[in-house]
Amino acid sequence: MPILDFKEIAQANLTNGLQDTFEMFARDFFMMLGFEIKDGPDRGQDGGRDLIINEKREGIIGDTEISWLVSCKHKAHSGSAVQSNDEIDIKGRVESFGAQGFIGFYSTIISSSLNRSLEGLKRHFDVKVFDREIIEKMILENPKGRTIAKRYFPISFSKWEEDHPKPANIFSEYEPLHCQNCDKDLLPQGDGIIVFKKDLKTEVYVAFLWCCKGKCDQDLKSKYRLMGYTDAGWEDISDILIPGKYLAWNMAVLNRIQQGDDKYSDEAFKSLKQFILRVSQMVLRSQNDEQIRRLMDLASLP
Ligand SMILES: [Zn+2]
Repeated sequence: MPILDFKEIAQANLTNGLQDTFEMFARDFFMMLGFEIKDGPDRGQDGGRDLIINEKREGIIGDTEISWLVSCKHKAHSGSAVQSNDEIDIKGRVESFGAQGFIGFYSTIISSSLNRSLEGLKRHFDVKVFDREIIEKMILENPKGRTIAKRYFPISFSKWEEDHPKPANIFSEYEPLHCQNCDKDLLPQGDGIIVFKKDLKTEVYVAFLWCCKGKCDQDLKSKYRLMGYTDAGWEDISDILIPGKYLAWNMAVLNRIQQGDDKYSDEAFKSLKQFILRVSQMVLRSQNDEQIRRLMDLASLP
């Protein structure tokens, strides 16, 4: 199921001033990957324009620079595959610009006939194809890709972002929530559970843990049972990542402390606070620059 809707990028060959958007998108995309963008040749009769991009390759005896000719074809609005007759004389175009490789940058898929002719060209130079699926994957996997996605796919990307929230910038750096048995970060997917361990003799919580469900939970259970401690309640982390549940759970913890129902060892209370802070990165919204400046002012007040 595609995530980014390429139809959000204005159709090429319209004379409304937006005809360059797909090529601008290609420039931003290749800059994100670390290519240097050279000015492209003029617009051709089909409304398409090729880009020249340079790639630095580090070698043992020195760096080399490879020039690629990028052909952008934006056919998402018609939905049709890029055909052989959409790409005229690739070899001649690559050679006339002195490039060493060809990249097809397509907002749909490539037809099998064009694929065959590109395979044939690999005898002469490097050939790569970035189709809709590959472009989408690379954008969503790259930390810089979010900025590009926000600019060119504002509607479909914001829908995706709702389901894949980015940790809020509460701390100077992201603080993971590692499973206390296998070290996996539990925050991005919200998988795993929290468990209270109690000393039944003193009625005190001696530990507050987070771990994966299943084996990790079982391993920790055996470890704590040997020390004489029992499970005294657990919750799914995914539930606590729901903002309303996060608040309700925090209130319940505070209330039980106030009423004297729950007593924590220093160690367990420290863990509880650590959990609340780390989880807050996925529940709270990000702070803007002005708020961060103000926060620094407040912290520096005597
Ligand atoms: Zn684990």
